[in-house]
Amino acid sequence: MVSGFPGLSNVEGSRTRAYVVSGFSRTQLIAATRCSRISIVRPVETLAGWSLAALVAAGCAASSAQPRTIAIDDIRVAPSRQAIFIGDYDRALVSIAAVTERDLGLPALKASLHFFPNRDALRAALEAQGAYPVVARDAAAVMMAIGGPGSVFINDAAFADLNWNSRIAVLAHELTHTIQYEFAGGRRGTSDQWLREGFAEWVQARVLDALGVMRRDDIRTRSIRWVRDTHARRSLPPLSGLTTFPEWVAFHNGRARDSLYPYAFVATDFLIERHGLDAMTTYFRLFAESDDRLANFATAFGEEWTAFDAALGAYFTRLVF
Ligand SMILES: [Zn+2]
Repeated sequence: MVSGFPGLSNVEGSRTRAYVVSGFSRTQLIAATRCSRISIVRPVETLAGWSLAALVAAGCAASSAQPRTIAIDDIRVAPSRQAIFIGDYDRALVSIAAVTERDLGLPALKASLHFFPNRDALRAALEAQGAYPVVARDAAAVMMAIGGPGSVFINDAAFADLNWNSRIAVLAHELTHTIQYEFAGGRRGTSDQWLREGFAEWVQARVLDALGVMRRDDIRTRSIRWVRDTHARRSLPPLSGLTTFPEWVAFHNGRARDSLYPYAFVATDFLIERHGLDAMTTYFRLFAESDDRLANFATAFGEEWTAFDAALGAYFTRLVF
């Protein structure tokens, strides 16, 4: 199920930082937490494509809850259209699914949430799935949730300290990665890392908007501002330099890391505005058959990468200057 855990070595040394959902600070997203020392950090991807939503929860007491699994197919509660009425994982999952399936037309979510009571249990689970011990230890020390094909692994003690808006945000992002695997027949493939992340952020924004947490336009506006402010201080790399996981991690560990997800979100939003959501889903589906990323891009979006890159550059120039 989790074939790529040895690749977790790629997140060793990645630094934690303030979590921002597409340009929103955590103080805007998190109304209250039970642990005053908690700080949320950005998702980080593994080479194998697993997404790691990291969390530093020093000082928070570990949960005594036992490991448990919630499979979306087993849920019988009705979805809610308002996040304010979401107070359990069953309703959170079906409510996110209602947006991704009904509003966006994405495939039915088939994922399960696997809860581990604390970081030690998560570490053991990662090891059991094939991660190197030192890698599993380091990942479990800082990671809150790990999304992969058909599953999201969760550190229950860490997750329990988030309010429901934050949990919905993280779950929407991570569950989008499970959809990306579904598109590609369970394969990670060689789809561009910035597009994997940007699309997860884009879906997250739609979910948060649909459930009344944040308006999509506000997320976009704040993301653009985040990119512009970062660009004013230091240059952002071209997205052509963020196509592989190592490139993504290298940037993530650099000084401009805070703009990474807003940057990918704004670019993905531009791409979808330009070619539509169907083209985006076609792009991920093509990796079930081919790892020719440039050919897949041209087939899905009807233009060569170089043409899109030029258009995107002009778009960013208008936004940034
Ligand atoms: Zn991600």
